[in-house]
Amino acid sequence: MSKEEKEFGGTPGAIGLMIFSHFVPFYFALSLRYSSGGLYCPSSFDGFIENFKETCSPTWSAFFLYTGFCFLQLIFAATLPGLVIKGLPVPTENNRQYTYNCNALSSWYVTLVLVAILHATGLVPLTILADQFGSVLCVAVICSDILSIIIHFYALQTKQTCRMTHSPIYDFFMGVWLNPRIRILGQDVDLKMLAEVRLSWLLLFLLIVSAAVKQYEAFHTITWPMMLILTAQLLYINACMKGEECIPTTWDIFYEKWGWMLIYWNLAGVPFVYAFQAYYILVNSLRTQKPTEGVSMTLIIVCFTVLFFAYYIWDSSQAQKNRFRMKQRGTYVPRKAFPQVPWNTLENPKYLKTECGSTLLIDGWWKYCRKPHYTADICMATCWALSCHQWPGLLPYFYPAFFTGMIIHRYTRDIARCKAKYGKDWTIYCKHVPYAFIPGLI
Ligand code: NDP
Repeated sequence: MSKEEKEFGGTPGAIGLMIFSHFVPFYFALSLRYSSGGLYCPSSFDGFIENFKETCSPTWSAFFLYTGFCFLQLIFAATLPGLVIKGLPVPTENNRQYTYNCNALSSWYVTLVLVAILHATGLVPLTILADQFGSVLCVAVICSDILSIIIHFYALQTKQTCRMTHSPIYDFFMGVWLNPRIRILGQDVDLKMLAEVRLSWLLLFLLIVSAAVKQYEAFHTITWPMMLILTAQLLYINACMKGEECIPTTWDIFYEKWGWMLIYWNLAGVPFVYAFQAYYILVNSLRTQKPTEGVSMTLIIVCFTVLFFAYYIWDSSQAQKNRFRMKQRGTYVPRKAFPQVPWNTLENPKYLKTECGSTLLIDGWWKYCRKPHYTADICMATCWALSCHQWPGLLPYFYPAFFTGMIIHRYTRDIARCKAKYGKDWTIYCKHVPYAFIPGLI
């Protein structure tokens, strides 16, 4: 029996999180439809069922849209050119190093061109996603649940399991398969990378653009709040695509298994929950027919300033750390994907050598605190929420609150892992870099 420790509160926590994760996106979809993004309280259970059927019933067009998108991304992943990168040695598989064809950037550009053509020719107007938001969400939830079950039992049957706790529900939640891959058109595609980098963020971007186009069609303008959320998401998503070659060595890939948690959040949770702000702005513009009323230009300017600064720290700090590590391993390949921000590669940085052989960066942004990118990410999440300031409401702030909770929990998991891995070297590292999130404060 493995000694794998249970996280997230074990089996009860896993059950609670699965229920909560299903509840949130559907509640948001109903809130957008019936309360303009405010708190949704149905008058009766029957009323709730009626509302649910009206908003979230799956349709064939939603099914073909969603599965067509996923299938196309799978084909792109197998065929488009990219940078071939080796992952970290996998200790549970005799230190095997998988190769990753990092072609998310080509997929991103090809998807944008294809979507523009489909929209311009009228074959598939972009607004279809906004029109069928609840139905596509329902299809995404059903698909991700079914896929989680298939992946779980396939991995069990083919004995491709690792770090099992032998608590069935907990193992289903956390996953049992570390490196799920399929061979398609003669190419190995890593399903976890595909879902994490493309399916989640690309679909999110298309959902956001769909809301913006819908606003434009209604008012012949895209308001500043909508521009803010579009810019924020564009920066974030483009960064995930342009930095894909750094992802094979992140802990989602080398440590997390592809279970319900990652599958559901990548295939359904992230795109539909993170799109809330754009839809909040859209439905309230349509409800009031006054899309620019109540916009605080001061707040918009502050948000754009904070957003660009936070993005800069987020992008450059991750590039510094990942490029430092790649240089140490001899796998660094300079890439020119747009935008390359200043100070993203450190020359001869200071670092700590540890007994286990790894090195820890204590230079660049990493000399100020241990998680500069988490702090920057929380600032960006807050800007997303503030884009909704025209119409007071609680739900736009769910994302920064959820994200902050999730990232602090992720921090505690990561620190526990690092303490176990580095032992007394971790204490030395913490003396060099005493603050976790904000230098001089916490
Ligand atoms: P991190 O980039 O924080 O990586 C953590 C690992 O990096 C550690 O386990 C350790 O691994 C290594 N490391 C830690 N400190 C150092 C150092 N000083 N020098 C060198 N290596 C170090 O990983 P995450 O995956 O948590 O975060 C990546 C980004 O993704 C963040 O910006 C985060 O905000 C974002 N994110 C966003 C989510 C969303 O839903 N929007 C969800 C989750 C993450 P090792 O064993 O190699 O030493």
